[in-house]
Amino acid sequence: MVNFGRLEKFIEIPEAAKVLLTTPEKATTLSINIKLGPNKVLIYNGYVVYHNVVMGPAKGGVRFASNVTLEETKTLAELMTYKCSLMGIPFGGGKSGIAFDPKSIPDFERMALIKEYVRMIMADLLAGAYVPAPDLGSTPLDMAIIYGETHRPESVTGKPPRLGGLPGRREATGRGVSTIAGLACQAVLGKEVKDATIAIQGCGNVGSYTADFLYRKGARIIAISDISGGLYAKEGLPVPEIFDFVSRGNLLSGYPSDKLQRVDNPSLLTLPVDILIPAAVEDVITEKNARNISARMVIEAANGPTTPKGDEILSQRKVPVIPDILTNSGGVVASYIEWRNAKSGNQTSAEEVYDFIDGKMEKTFQQIQGLTKEHKTNFREGAYLLSVSELVSAMRERSWI
Ligand code: NAD
Repeated sequence: MVNFGRLEKFIEIPEAAKVLLTTPEKATTLSINIKLGPNKVLIYNGYVVYHNVVMGPAKGGVRFASNVTLEETKTLAELMTYKCSLMGIPFGGGKSGIAFDPKSIPDFERMALIKEYVRMIMADLLAGAYVPAPDLGSTPLDMAIIYGETHRPESVTGKPPRLGGLPGRREATGRGVSTIAGLACQAVLGKEVKDATIAIQGCGNVGSYTADFLYRKGARIIAISDISGGLYAKEGLPVPEIFDFVSRGNLLSGYPSDKLQRVDNPSLLTLPVDILIPAAVEDVITEKNARNISARMVIEAANGPTTPKGDEILSQRKVPVIPDILTNSGGVVASYIEWRNAKSGNQTSAEEVYDFIDGKMEKTFQQIQGLTKEHKTNFREGAYLLSVSELVSAMRERSWI
Protein backbone atom coordinates (compact mmCIF):
# COMPACT_ATOMS: atom_id res chain seq x y z
CA MET A 1 0.00 0.00 0.00
CA VAL A 2 2.72 2.46 0.97
CA ASN A 3 5.93 2.50 -0.99
CA PHE A 4 8.31 3.59 1.80
CA GLY A 5 11.26 3.38 -0.60
CA ARG A 6 9.80 6.10 -2.82
CA LEU A 7 8.67 8.30 0.09
CA GLU A 8 12.17 8.13 1.59
CA LYS A 9 13.46 10.06 -1.41
CA PHE A 10 11.68 13.05 0.14
CA ILE A 11 11.37 12.48 3.90
CA GLU A 12 13.20 10.55 6.58
CA ILE A 13 11.17 7.61 7.91
CA PRO A 14 12.77 5.96 10.98
CA GLU A 15 13.13 2.16 10.79
CA ALA A 16 11.03 1.76 13.97
CA ALA A 17 8.19 3.72 12.37
CA LYS A 18 8.31 1.47 9.31
CA VAL A 19 8.10 -1.61 11.55
CA LEU A 20 5.11 -0.18 13.41
CA LEU A 21 3.38 0.78 10.16
CA THR A 22 3.87 -2.62 8.57
CA THR A 23 2.79 -4.71 11.57
CA PRO A 24 -0.83 -4.53 12.72
CA GLU A 25 -1.07 -3.79 16.42
CA LYS A 26 -3.77 -6.41 16.83
CA ALA A 27 -5.15 -9.03 14.43
CA THR A 28 -7.63 -11.39 16.02
CA THR A 29 -9.74 -14.23 14.72
CA LEU A 30 -13.02 -14.84 16.54
CA SER A 31 -15.13 -17.99 16.54
CA ILE A 32 -18.57 -16.51 16.97
CA ASN A 33 -20.90 -19.24 18.20
CA ILE A 34 -24.64 -19.06 18.32
CA LYS A 35 -26.98 -21.70 19.65
CA LEU A 36 -29.91 -22.25 17.33
CA GLY A 37 -31.64 -24.96 19.37
CA PRO A 38 -30.91 -28.06 21.44
CA ASN A 39 -27.60 -29.55 20.28
CA LYS A 40 -27.47 -27.11 17.34
CA VAL A 41 -24.62 -24.61 17.30
CA LEU A 42 -23.44 -22.46 14.40
CA ILE A 43 -19.90 -21.10 14.28
CA TYR A 44 -18.98 -18.06 12.20
CA ASN A 45 -15.48 -16.70 11.71
CA GLY A 46 -14.92 -13.10 12.71
CA TYR A 47 -11.89 -10.85 12.36
CA VAL A 48 -10.85 -7.74 14.25
CA VAL A 49 -7.77 -5.75 13.24
CA TYR A 50 -6.28 -2.60 14.74
CA HIS A 51 -3.53 -1.55 12.37
CA ASN A 52 -1.95 1.50 13.99
CA VAL A 53 -3.64 3.51 16.73
CA VAL A 54 -1.10 6.23 17.39
CA MET A 55 -3.63 8.87 16.32
CA GLY A 56 -6.54 7.54 18.40
CA PRO A 57 -9.08 4.72 18.70
CA ALA A 58 -9.17 2.16 15.88
CA LYS A 59 -11.88 3.32 13.47
CA GLY A 60 -13.28 1.22 10.66
CA GLY A 61 -16.37 -0.57 9.47
CA VAL A 62 -17.53 -4.09 10.19
CA ARG A 63 -17.83 -6.05 6.94
CA PHE A 64 -20.46 -8.78 6.50
CA ALA A 65 -19.44 -10.99 3.56
CA SER A 66 -19.06 -14.73 3.18
CA ASN A 67 -15.58 -14.32 1.67
CA VAL A 68 -14.11 -11.81 4.16
CA THR A 69 -10.69 -12.93 5.46
CA LEU A 70 -8.18 -11.85 8.06
CA GLU A 71 -5.81 -10.67 5.29
CA GLU A 72 -8.50 -8.50 3.71
CA THR A 73 -9.42 -7.07 7.13
CA LYS A 74 -5.75 -6.20 7.72
CA THR A 75 -5.48 -4.38 4.39
CA LEU A 76 -8.65 -2.40 5.04
CA ALA A 77 -7.50 -1.47 8.57
CA GLU A 78 -4.18 -0.24 7.16
CA LEU A 79 -6.00 1.95 4.65
CA MET A 80 -7.92 3.52 7.56
CA THR A 81 -4.68 4.38 9.38
CA TYR A 82 -3.45 6.43 6.41
CA LYS A 83 -6.84 7.93 5.63
CA CYS A 84 -7.52 9.19 9.17
CA SER A 85 -4.00 10.55 9.53
CA LEU A 86 -4.23 12.29 6.15
CA MET A 87 -7.51 13.98 7.06
CA GLY A 88 -6.25 15.06 10.48
CA ILE A 89 -8.94 13.24 12.46
CA PRO A 90 -7.99 11.63 15.77
CA PHE A 91 -8.58 7.99 14.84
CA GLY A 92 -6.32 5.05 14.16
CA GLY A 93 -6.89 2.36 11.55
CA GLY A 94 -9.26 -0.47 12.36
CA LYS A 95 -11.59 -2.90 10.63
CA SER A 96 -13.58 -6.00 11.49
CA GLY A 97 -15.53 -8.60 9.60
CA ILE A 98 -17.87 -11.52 10.04
CA ALA A 99 -17.82 -14.23 7.40
CA PHE A 100 -21.43 -14.78 6.40
CA ASP A 101 -23.72 -13.88 3.54
CA PRO A 102 -26.02 -11.23 5.01
CA LYS A 103 -28.75 -12.02 2.47
CA SER A 104 -28.84 -15.71 3.37
CA ILE A 105 -29.72 -15.79 7.07
CA PRO A 106 -32.93 -14.85 8.88
CA ASP A 107 -33.11 -11.62 10.89
CA PHE A 108 -33.14 -13.31 14.31
CA GLU A 109 -29.94 -15.22 13.45
CA ARG A 110 -28.27 -12.06 12.18
CA MET A 111 -29.19 -10.27 15.40
CA ALA A 112 -27.88 -13.14 17.55
CA LEU A 113 -24.64 -13.12 15.55
CA ILE A 114 -24.13 -9.37 15.97
CA LYS A 115 -24.88 -9.55 19.70
CA GLU A 116 -22.36 -12.33 20.16
CA TYR A 117 -19.73 -10.40 18.12
CA VAL A 118 -20.36 -7.42 20.43
CA ARG A 119 -20.06 -9.61 23.52
CA MET A 120 -16.69 -10.91 22.33
CA ILE A 121 -15.20 -7.43 21.81
CA MET A 122 -17.23 -5.65 24.50
CA ALA A 123 -14.23 -4.60 26.62
CA ASP A 124 -12.71 -2.72 23.67
CA LEU A 125 -16.03 -1.18 22.68
CA LEU A 126 -16.66 0.10 26.20
CA ALA A 127 -13.10 1.37 26.53
CA GLY A 128 -13.51 3.24 23.24
CA ALA A 129 -10.54 1.37 21.75
CA TYR A 130 -12.45 0.34 18.61
CA VAL A 131 -15.34 2.21 17.00
CA PRO A 132 -17.14 0.19 14.29
CA ALA A 133 -19.37 1.54 11.51
CA PRO A 134 -21.26 0.05 8.56
CA ASP A 135 -19.21 -1.45 5.74
CA LEU A 136 -20.02 -3.82 2.88
CA GLY A 137 -23.09 -5.89 3.87
CA SER A 138 -23.75 -4.17 7.23
CA THR A 139 -26.29 -1.40 7.76
CA PRO A 140 -27.28 1.40 10.18
CA LEU A 141 -29.79 -1.02 11.74
CA ASP A 142 -26.92 -3.38 12.61
CA MET A 143 -25.12 -0.43 14.22
CA ALA A 144 -28.29 0.21 16.24
CA ILE A 145 -27.98 -3.34 17.61
CA ILE A 146 -24.35 -2.69 18.61
CA TYR A 147 -25.44 0.53 20.34
CA GLY A 148 -28.25 -1.39 22.06
CA GLU A 149 -25.69 -3.77 23.55
CA THR A 150 -23.09 -1.22 24.68
CA HIS A 151 -25.54 1.54 25.74
CA ARG A 152 -22.83 4.03 24.71
CA PRO A 153 -23.70 6.21 21.72
CA GLU A 154 -20.01 6.91 21.02
CA SER A 155 -19.18 3.18 20.79
CA VAL A 156 -20.37 2.95 17.17
CA THR A 157 -21.05 5.32 14.25
CA GLY A 158 -23.35 5.04 11.27
CA LYS A 159 -26.38 4.66 13.52
CA PRO A 160 -29.83 5.61 12.19
CA PRO A 161 -30.29 9.42 12.61
CA ARG A 162 -33.02 9.13 15.25
CA LEU A 163 -30.66 7.02 17.38
CA GLY A 164 -27.84 9.55 17.30
CA GLY A 165 -26.73 8.94 13.72
CA LEU A 166 -25.71 11.90 11.63
CA PRO A 167 -27.89 13.74 9.12
CA GLY A 168 -25.81 13.84 5.94
CA ARG A 169 -23.82 10.65 6.71
CA ARG A 170 -25.41 8.75 3.80
CA GLU A 171 -24.37 11.48 1.36
CA ALA A 172 -20.99 12.22 3.04
CA THR A 173 -18.64 10.17 0.87
CA GLY A 174 -20.22 11.39 -2.38
CA ARG A 175 -20.14 14.92 -1.03
CA GLY A 176 -16.40 14.65 -0.42
CA VAL A 177 -15.79 13.13 -3.87
CA SER A 178 -17.70 15.96 -5.55
CA THR A 179 -15.76 18.59 -3.56
CA ILE A 180 -12.44 17.04 -4.56
CA ALA A 181 -13.62 16.84 -8.18
CA GLY A 182 -14.31 20.59 -8.09
CA LEU A 183 -10.96 21.44 -6.52
CA ALA A 184 -8.92 19.12 -8.76
CA CYS A 185 -10.71 20.25 -11.90
CA GLN A 186 -9.71 23.83 -11.22
CA ALA A 187 -6.18 23.09 -9.97
CA VAL A 188 -5.18 20.40 -12.46
CA LEU A 189 -7.30 20.93 -15.56
CA GLY A 190 -7.65 24.69 -15.18
CA LYS A 191 -11.42 24.70 -15.66
CA GLU A 192 -14.53 24.93 -13.52
CA VAL A 193 -16.27 21.64 -12.80
CA LYS A 194 -19.48 23.07 -14.29
CA ASP A 195 -17.68 23.02 -17.65
CA ALA A 196 -16.34 19.47 -17.23
CA THR A 197 -17.51 16.17 -18.70
CA ILE A 198 -17.57 13.24 -16.27
CA ALA A 199 -17.97 9.45 -16.39
CA ILE A 200 -18.76 7.55 -13.20
CA GLN A 201 -18.44 3.80 -12.72
CA GLY A 202 -20.77 2.64 -9.94
CA CYS A 203 -24.18 3.93 -8.99
CA GLY A 204 -24.43 2.78 -5.37
CA ASN A 205 -24.02 4.97 -2.31
CA VAL A 206 -20.83 6.68 -3.46
CA GLY A 207 -21.46 6.83 -7.22
CA SER A 208 -25.04 8.05 -7.04
CA TYR A 209 -24.45 10.83 -4.49
CA THR A 210 -21.28 11.89 -6.32
CA ALA A 211 -23.32 12.17 -9.53
CA ASP A 212 -26.08 14.05 -7.71
CA PHE A 213 -23.74 16.65 -6.14
CA LEU A 214 -21.74 17.13 -9.35
CA TYR A 215 -24.90 17.50 -11.42
CA ARG A 216 -26.06 20.20 -9.01
CA LYS A 217 -22.74 21.98 -9.52
CA GLY A 218 -23.57 22.04 -13.24
CA ALA A 219 -21.16 19.31 -14.40
CA ARG A 220 -22.10 17.23 -17.43
CA ILE A 221 -22.29 13.57 -16.33
CA ILE A 222 -22.12 11.83 -19.68
CA ALA A 223 -21.95 8.21 -18.45
CA ILE A 224 -22.78 6.22 -15.34
CA SER A 225 -22.90 2.48 -14.73
CA ASP A 226 -23.68 -0.22 -12.21
CA ILE A 227 -23.00 -3.94 -12.24
CA SER A 228 -25.67 -4.41 -14.94
CA GLY A 229 -24.09 -1.92 -17.40
CA GLY A 230 -24.28 1.80 -18.02
CA LEU A 231 -26.06 4.73 -19.65
CA TYR A 232 -24.45 7.30 -21.95
CA ALA A 233 -25.52 10.66 -23.36
CA LYS A 234 -23.00 13.02 -24.96
CA GLU A 235 -25.07 16.06 -23.98
CA GLY A 236 -25.32 14.89 -20.34
CA LEU A 237 -27.53 12.40 -18.49
CA PRO A 238 -30.76 13.28 -16.63
CA VAL A 239 -29.13 12.60 -13.25
CA PRO A 240 -32.16 13.38 -10.98
CA GLU A 241 -34.33 10.84 -12.86
CA ILE A 242 -31.57 8.21 -12.79
CA PHE A 243 -30.91 8.89 -9.08
CA ASP A 244 -34.59 8.43 -8.32
CA PHE A 245 -34.68 5.20 -10.37
CA VAL A 246 -31.68 3.58 -8.62
CA SER A 247 -32.73 4.75 -5.16
CA ARG A 248 -35.84 2.60 -5.61
CA GLY A 249 -33.53 -0.43 -5.82
CA ASN A 250 -33.49 -0.77 -9.62
CA LEU A 251 -30.54 -1.73 -11.81
CA LEU A 252 -29.56 0.60 -14.64
CA SER A 253 -30.14 -2.15 -17.24
CA GLY A 254 -33.86 -1.66 -16.52
CA TYR A 255 -33.80 2.14 -16.94
CA PRO A 256 -36.53 2.96 -19.44
CA SER A 257 -35.27 5.30 -22.14
CA ASP A 258 -34.96 5.29 -25.88
CA LYS A 259 -33.10 8.63 -25.87
CA LEU A 260 -30.01 7.39 -24.00
CA GLN A 261 -27.36 5.04 -25.30
CA ARG A 262 -26.10 1.98 -23.40
CA VAL A 263 -22.44 1.60 -22.51
CA ASP A 264 -20.73 -1.40 -20.93
CA ASN A 265 -18.36 -1.08 -17.97
CA PRO A 266 -15.07 -1.63 -19.87
CA SER A 267 -16.05 0.99 -22.49
CA LEU A 268 -17.16 3.51 -19.85
CA LEU A 269 -13.66 3.45 -18.37
CA THR A 270 -12.08 4.49 -21.68
CA LEU A 271 -14.49 7.29 -22.66
CA PRO A 272 -12.86 10.61 -23.61
CA VAL A 273 -13.96 12.77 -20.66
CA ASP A 274 -12.37 15.38 -18.45
CA ILE A 275 -12.82 13.29 -15.31
CA LEU A 276 -13.23 9.54 -14.83
CA ILE A 277 -14.54 8.53 -11.39
CA PRO A 278 -14.31 4.80 -10.60
CA ALA A 279 -16.77 4.48 -7.70
CA ALA A 280 -17.65 0.78 -7.71
CA VAL A 281 -15.05 -1.86 -6.89
CA GLU A 282 -11.29 -2.36 -6.65
CA ASP A 283 -8.83 -3.21 -9.46
CA VAL A 284 -10.72 -1.84 -12.47
CA ILE A 285 -7.84 0.21 -13.94
CA THR A 286 -5.08 -2.29 -14.61
CA GLU A 287 -2.11 -2.86 -16.91
CA LYS A 288 -4.65 -4.19 -19.45
CA ASN A 289 -6.65 -0.97 -19.88
CA ALA A 290 -4.54 1.86 -18.41
CA ARG A 291 -3.09 2.69 -21.84
CA ASN A 292 -6.64 3.10 -23.19
CA ILE A 293 -7.87 5.48 -20.49
CA SER A 294 -8.73 8.67 -22.38
CA ALA A 295 -9.87 10.75 -19.37
CA ARG A 296 -7.75 13.81 -18.59
CA MET A 297 -7.85 12.97 -14.88
CA VAL A 298 -8.91 10.01 -12.69
CA ILE A 299 -10.53 10.61 -9.32
CA GLU A 300 -10.57 7.41 -7.26
CA ALA A 301 -13.84 7.21 -5.31
CA ALA A 302 -13.80 3.42 -4.74
CA ASN A 303 -11.13 1.89 -2.53
CA GLY A 304 -8.18 0.69 -4.62
CA PRO A 305 -9.71 0.99 -8.12
CA THR A 306 -6.24 1.31 -9.71
CA THR A 307 -3.74 -1.55 -9.50
CA PRO A 308 -0.05 -0.63 -8.93
CA LYS A 309 0.76 -1.52 -12.58
CA GLY A 310 -2.21 0.51 -13.83
CA ASP A 311 -1.07 3.40 -11.68
CA GLU A 312 2.44 3.23 -13.09
CA ILE A 313 1.13 3.38 -16.65
CA LEU A 314 -1.15 6.34 -15.89
CA SER A 315 1.77 8.09 -14.21
CA GLN A 316 4.02 7.51 -17.27
CA ARG A 317 1.21 8.84 -19.48
CA LYS A 318 0.95 11.91 -17.18
CA VAL A 319 -2.72 11.23 -16.37
CA PRO A 320 -3.21 12.70 -12.88
CA VAL A 321 -4.82 10.35 -10.35
CA ILE A 322 -6.39 11.79 -7.19
CA PRO A 323 -6.03 8.94 -4.68
CA ASP A 324 -8.75 7.11 -2.77
CA ILE A 325 -7.37 7.92 0.69
CA LEU A 326 -8.17 11.56 0.03
CA THR A 327 -11.17 11.36 -2.29
CA ASN A 328 -13.42 8.96 -0.40
CA SER A 329 -12.64 10.14 3.13
CA GLY A 330 -15.87 12.15 3.48
CA GLY A 331 -17.50 9.14 5.16
CA VAL A 332 -14.94 8.81 7.94
CA VAL A 333 -14.87 12.58 8.44
CA ALA A 334 -18.65 12.42 8.99
CA SER A 335 -18.18 9.48 11.36
CA TYR A 336 -15.83 11.65 13.38
CA ILE A 337 -18.56 14.29 13.74
CA GLU A 338 -21.06 11.60 14.84
CA TRP A 339 -18.59 10.26 17.43
CA ARG A 340 -17.84 13.77 18.70
CA ASN A 341 -21.55 14.59 18.96
CA ALA A 342 -22.17 11.35 20.86
CA LYS A 343 -19.55 12.37 23.40
CA SER A 344 -20.65 16.01 23.73
CA GLY A 345 -24.41 15.79 23.22
CA ASN A 346 -24.10 18.25 20.34
CA GLN A 347 -26.30 17.99 17.25
CA THR A 348 -25.31 18.88 13.71
CA SER A 349 -27.37 19.57 10.59
CA ALA A 350 -26.61 18.01 7.20
CA GLU A 351 -25.48 21.44 5.94
CA GLU A 352 -22.99 21.75 8.82
CA VAL A 353 -21.71 18.25 8.04
CA TYR A 354 -21.21 19.16 4.37
CA ASP A 355 -19.39 22.37 5.36
CA PHE A 356 -17.10 20.47 7.70
CA ILE A 357 -16.30 17.87 5.01
CA ASP A 358 -15.68 20.58 2.40
CA GLY A 359 -13.33 22.42 4.79
CA LYS A 360 -11.31 19.28 5.55
CA MET A 361 -11.15 18.37 1.85
CA GLU A 362 -10.00 21.83 0.79
CA LYS A 363 -7.31 22.06 3.45
CA THR A 364 -5.96 18.57 2.78
CA PHE A 365 -6.08 19.01 -1.00
CA GLN A 366 -4.05 22.20 -0.72
CA GLN A 367 -1.50 20.55 1.59
CA ILE A 368 -1.09 17.65 -0.85
CA GLN A 369 -0.83 20.00 -3.81
CA GLY A 370 1.90 21.91 -1.97
CA LEU A 371 3.86 18.67 -1.45
CA THR A 372 3.46 17.59 -5.09
CA LYS A 373 4.91 20.92 -6.21
CA GLU A 374 7.70 20.92 -3.61
CA HIS A 375 8.82 17.36 -4.39
CA LYS A 376 7.74 17.24 -8.06
CA THR A 377 5.70 14.15 -7.44
CA ASN A 378 2.16 12.90 -8.06
CA PHE A 379 -0.95 13.23 -5.89
CA ARG A 380 -0.81 9.68 -4.50
CA GLU A 381 2.74 10.17 -3.28
CA GLY A 382 1.86 13.63 -2.00
CA ALA A 383 -1.02 12.17 0.02
CA TYR A 384 1.11 9.39 1.52
CA LEU A 385 3.93 11.86 2.27
CA LEU A 386 1.52 13.96 4.31
CA SER A 387 -0.12 10.99 6.04
CA VAL A 388 3.13 9.19 6.91
CA SER A 389 4.82 12.41 8.13
CA GLU A 390 1.92 13.01 10.52
CA LEU A 391 2.05 9.41 11.77
CA VAL A 392 5.82 9.57 12.34
CA SER A 393 5.48 12.86 14.26
CA ALA A 394 2.67 11.40 16.40
CA MET A 395 4.77 8.30 17.15
CA ARG A 396 7.62 10.56 18.26
CA GLU A 397 5.27 12.62 20.43
CA ARG A 398 3.96 9.47 22.13
CA SER A 399 7.51 8.11 22.55
CA TRP A 400 6.67 5.06 20.47
CA ILE A 401 9.84 5.50 18.47
P1 NAD B 1 -22.49 0.09 -3.08
O1 NAD B 1 -22.60 -1.36 -2.86
O2 NAD B 1 -23.53 1.01 -2.55
O3 NAD B 1 -22.41 0.39 -4.68
C1 NAD B 1 -21.53 -0.27 -5.52
C2 NAD B 1 -21.91 0.04 -6.96
O4 NAD B 1 -20.96 -0.57 -7.82
C3 NAD B 1 -23.26 -0.50 -7.37
O5 NAD B 1 -23.88 0.39 -8.28
C4 NAD B 1 -22.90 -1.81 -8.09
O6 NAD B 1 -23.89 -2.23 -9.01
C5 NAD B 1 -21.64 -1.40 -8.78
N1 NAD B 1 -20.77 -2.52 -9.12
C6 NAD B 1 -20.50 -3.62 -8.37
N2 NAD B 1 -19.66 -4.43 -9.03
C7 NAD B 1 -19.37 -3.82 -10.21
C8 NAD B 1 -18.57 -4.14 -11.31
N3 NAD B 1 -17.87 -5.28 -11.33
N4 NAD B 1 -18.50 -3.26 -12.33
C9 NAD B 1 -19.21 -2.10 -12.30
N5 NAD B 1 -19.99 -1.74 -11.30
C10 NAD B 1 -20.08 -2.59 -10.26
O7 NAD B 1 -21.05 0.50 -2.56
P2 NAD B 1 -20.55 1.95 -2.14
O8 NAD B 1 -20.80 2.15 -0.69
O9 NAD B 1 -21.04 2.94 -3.13
O10 NAD B 1 -18.97 1.77 -2.27
C11 NAD B 1 -18.32 1.85 -3.55
C12 NAD B 1 -16.82 1.89 -3.31
O11 NAD B 1 -16.49 3.01 -2.49
C13 NAD B 1 -16.23 0.67 -2.60
O12 NAD B 1 -14.92 0.48 -3.08
C14 NAD B 1 -16.17 1.13 -1.14
O13 NAD B 1 -15.19 0.41 -0.39
C15 NAD B 1 -15.77 2.57 -1.32
N6 NAD B 1 -16.09 3.45 -0.20
C16 NAD B 1 -17.37 3.60 0.24
C17 NAD B 1 -17.66 4.47 1.28
C18 NAD B 1 -19.06 4.71 1.75
O14 NAD B 1 -19.25 5.59 2.62
N7 NAD B 1 -20.06 4.01 1.24
C19 NAD B 1 -16.60 5.16 1.92
C20 NAD B 1 -15.29 4.98 1.46
C21 NAD B 1 -15.07 4.13 0.39
